[in-house]
Amino acid sequence: MEGINKQRIFERNDEQLNEDGDYVLYWMQINRRFQYNFALEYAVELANKLNKPLLIYEGLSCDYPWAADRFHHFITEGMAENLEYAQNNDFNYYSYLEDEPGAGSGLLYTLADDACAVITDEFPVFIIREHNEQVAPKFDIPFITVDSNGLIPFGLTDKAPYNAYFFRKIMQRNFITCYKHGPKKNPLHDLENENDITLSSDFLEKYPRAYSHLDNPTGFINSLDINHEVGKIDLEGSREAALNRLDQFVQNGLKVYDEKRNDPDEEKTSGMSPWLHFGKISEYEIVKAVLEHQPKGWSLDDITFNKGSTGGFFNGDPNVDGFLDEVITWREVGFHFAHHEPDYDQYESLPGWALKTLEKHKDDPREYIYDLEEFAQSKTHDELWNAAQTQLREEGIIHNYLRMLWGKKVLEWTPNPETALVYLIELNNRYAIDGRDPNSYSGIFWIFGRFDRAWQERPIYGKVRYMTSKSTRRKVKLDEYLQRYGNRGSQQALEL
Ligand SMILES: Cc1cc2nc3c(=O)[nH]c(=O)nc-3n(C[C@H](O)[C@H](O)[C@H](O)COP(=O)(O)OP(=O)(O)OC[C@H]3O[C@@H](n4cnc5c(N)ncnc54)[C@H](O)[C@@H]3O)c2cc1C
Repeated sequence: MEGINKQRIFERNDEQLNEDGDYVLYWMQINRRFQYNFALEYAVELANKLNKPLLIYEGLSCDYPWAADRFHHFITEGMAENLEYAQNNDFNYYSYLEDEPGAGSGLLYTLADDACAVITDEFPVFIIREHNEQVAPKFDIPFITVDSNGLIPFGLTDKAPYNAYFFRKIMQRNFITCYKHGPKKNPLHDLENENDITLSSDFLEKYPRAYSHLDNPTGFINSLDINHEVGKIDLEGSREAALNRLDQFVQNGLKVYDEKRNDPDEEKTSGMSPWLHFGKISEYEIVKAVLEHQPKGWSLDDITFNKGSTGGFFNGDPNVDGFLDEVITWREVGFHFAHHEPDYDQYESLPGWALKTLEKHKDDPREYIYDLEEFAQSKTHDELWNAAQTQLREEGIIHNYLRMLWGKKVLEWTPNPETALVYLIELNNRYAIDGRDPNSYSGIFWIFGRFDRAWQERPIYGKVRYMTSKSTRRKVKLDEYLQRYGNRGSQQALEL
């Protein structure tokens, strides 16, 4: 990869290429797609340079934090689709599903024994960050991570952006170059050496291909020692489902995004976050599809650097501008923050002003206090909060506006902010299909002041922004939402 995209490449050790290796290995960890994927593109380029075939390995372990039916179903649906695509297009793809904790240990190193180099996804949070840090020194071949997370390469920021305005300035300066150097649609079309790679029978006996389990994921998933209470949801984890959803959004939601995005009854946001999280679709594709809906005659020449302000940059349809600010600036500020801040999930990583004001108000009396499971089962006194939690628990998602209120109230109804943070991380990551993402930590830490500024001082919140269910009910359309989740939530809570 050339030019600006070199800023996406991270060489994690100093080892030499094994030119006698049988293949280049691409370990697909989070960008679980064959299209618009910079890491795959880099792996193909390296394979071509060495005149070697490429082996793509995609796996799923069963003992990651918060492992549950919900995530396993979503991921295996995507893996089944990838397997079919690989079979139809005849390239070397090997997928593995772990059936008990530890069964897959050693697999990656065994595959790497015959490889020239290992390429994988750069991802700044959760177990993928840990994996990349832990395995890098253990290889005696190059271990290279490639950032295919967003439009702005990680290498373009040199420290954790402290707010969206700061990051937006960097985005605005680099948008056109980055957009023009987007990922290739089908990097595998460029692969020159298409020789078949044969995995040994010993290897396949120990680590069988995922074929049969992908045919019947329900039976397989039921047999695993994971959390079965967090159940499957209606969303399908395939790329096809992601592309359909994007298409529906650009045809319907986009033209009213600005006006209706905050109204839960309208359901006019894109709903892309689950597929973005599991890498079934790239941010670049979304931006491209949306820019094609700018008014007739609009071109990249209409873009003007606007010193980090929200409006006046794309200079097209305000709905498109508003949506792009979310999917580029707000999405990526959290990725870049976590990339530069290893303590992204620690309370102490909050800005100094927030830590100070929360500390000052730590002992303020709280009218309501709930424990984790009361929150989890929607057992608070607040109908709207319970409805949001019910939507999260049962459907794996909360509408964006309510997600903010949902978080703010946990800060108010727990003994102290540190406990609130622990509860929010647990609730979000236990239930949200898009959880365990850099945006999970952006959203949760925003509740406590990250990326925000000081507001008028109040009890409990101090100078951290405050929200109420009452004002939310006044501001946004909620009647249908409450009918759908409200009573059901309360009824359920009563039964528990
Ligand atoms: C307490 C709390 C927890 C959150 N947890 C998560 C999480 O686990 N995973 C997650 O992806 N997002 C999280 N968010 C951010 C945001 O709520 C979701 O990204 C958004 O609601 C997803 O819905 P959508 O795809 O319809 O968004 P759209 O409005 O259609 O926006 C398109 C995309 O832009 C990005 N985006 C939109 N709003 C935000 C935002 N406020 N911050 C960062 N990126 C944004 C997302 O990638 C989203 O998919 C959280 C926010 C809060 C306040």
